[in-house]
Amino acid sequence: PSWYADLIDEARLTAQTLLDRAEDLANPTLRLGITGLSRAGKTVFTTALVHALIRGGRLPVFRAMHEGRIAGARLEPQPDDDVPRFDYEGHLATLVDDRRWPESTRRISELRLAIDYAPARGGRRTLILDIVDYPGEWLLDLPLLDQDYTAFASASLALARAPARLPLAAPFLAALAATDPRAPAEEAKARQLAGLFTDYLAACRAEAVSMSLLPPGRFLMPGDLEGSPALTFAPLDIAGAGEPAPGSLHAMMQRRYEAYKDTIVRPFFRDHFARLDRQIVLIDVLAALNAGPAALADLESALDGILRAFRIGRNSWLSALFRHRIGKVLFAATKADHLHHTSHDPLEAILRRLVERALSRAEGAGAEIDVVALAAVRATREAMVKRGRAHLPAIVGVPEAGQHGADAFDGLAEAAVFPGDLPENPAALFDPALGFKGLSDAAGGDFRFLRFRPPPVLRNGEGEALALPHIRLDRALEFLLGDRLT
Ligand code: GDP
Repeated sequence: PSWYADLIDEARLTAQTLLDRAEDLANPTLRLGITGLSRAGKTVFTTALVHALIRGGRLPVFRAMHEGRIAGARLEPQPDDDVPRFDYEGHLATLVDDRRWPESTRRISELRLAIDYAPARGGRRTLILDIVDYPGEWLLDLPLLDQDYTAFASASLALARAPARLPLAAPFLAALAATDPRAPAEEAKARQLAGLFTDYLAACRAEAVSMSLLPPGRFLMPGDLEGSPALTFAPLDIAGAGEPAPGSLHAMMQRRYEAYKDTIVRPFFRDHFARLDRQIVLIDVLAALNAGPAALADLESALDGILRAFRIGRNSWLSALFRHRIGKVLFAATKADHLHHTSHDPLEAILRRLVERALSRAEGAGAEIDVVALAAVRATREAMVKRGRAHLPAIVGVPEAGQHGADAFDGLAEAAVFPGDLPENPAALFDPALGFKGLSDAAGGDFRFLRFRPPPVLRNGEGEALALPHIRLDRALEFLLGDRLT
């Protein structure tokens, strides 16, 4: 029964929390979660953050570094043997040696850093930083813990029938219409429906109709679980059906949904999420802006879900020990290097607005919250470019090869892009009467989607990469770590 599972979970988490606290007393330890939806920039951010801590760089806002109080940072063996290590060296080599972007996060990974520093009042200390990188899709699953199958099915189907998604959901909905939930359970049927449901979620993502709100998260980011029965379910049309008959398709789907929660969502929550002290949520706000108002609305709902995840269980099955665990959450709009610096503050303002709206609905998050627009690795520089008689502010970088149809780039030459400005006042984006106001069309549309190659990086005598260029990475570092290095 579920109260029993709750009790066991609670006991395990309590024990783990006590162990974590004891370790924190012996060696001050901070567990930092890095998350965001697929392609938001987790891998790049994690690599850049670790590199900045180890190698330093121009980080004026990160006070401990700026004041020269960080003596050094080194990688250490991670604490959890059953979690893959974040491949820092590999990702850095891809970025710096090949000037290619590293492979994206597809599952959870971990890395431990020991930071030796001098507290402002003197002496020597070491802070252990445990970094946990995991797909944000998994975070959006946490609200499922408080949802039974009936509620999940009705919410999912309502979303699937919303105008923006309906065309993409058509094949799934058609199959559903031809399905009797009371019919005997059949594996082939379950697989067919789960397959079509997954295709629909993937299509929403691909068409950028919806970029954000697509639980169950493992359907799009299965990690190592692809094809397992816990992933072979789908919402059924069961409004008003009541309790399913034993042996029916309905009963089978319900059981698998519960299995999904018990074997996937709960352990992730208990073993990883609930143990984090701080969290950064990376968000590709520019992609959402480019994709249009539906994607933006979706992003806002996803933020709702994320904020709810931070509060989850507070009034149900979790002990007071966890209640104050995640003390700080930073929401970061990534890839700010796609914009001219005059648009960095507006980008931040847009994200702040989204977060504030979500916060007001979630009645706070119980954590200190901040917002930043950043580029973990800055791939572009700024220049004034002559266009006819005018000199226009542009960003210059090397576009990745093969983009832009017939006049494909060669991946070697630089190109200048006029990114257009974001509206100074984010309210313009949220006024239903005005509708969505996109980036200006100065560059004629598709240039806004250009992907640039990572920048050239200087090396020291040993051939090691010196500082990676970035935008406002130091602000993120200061918010996430600054107070633990004073
Ligand atoms: P993940 O799926 O969240 O791990 O995302 P990644 O870190 O793999 O980033 C996805 C893609 O976004 C990369 O391949 C890059 O093309 C792009 N990207 C990520 N961070 C940056 C950045 O700071 N600047 C630029 N220009 N592109 C970035």
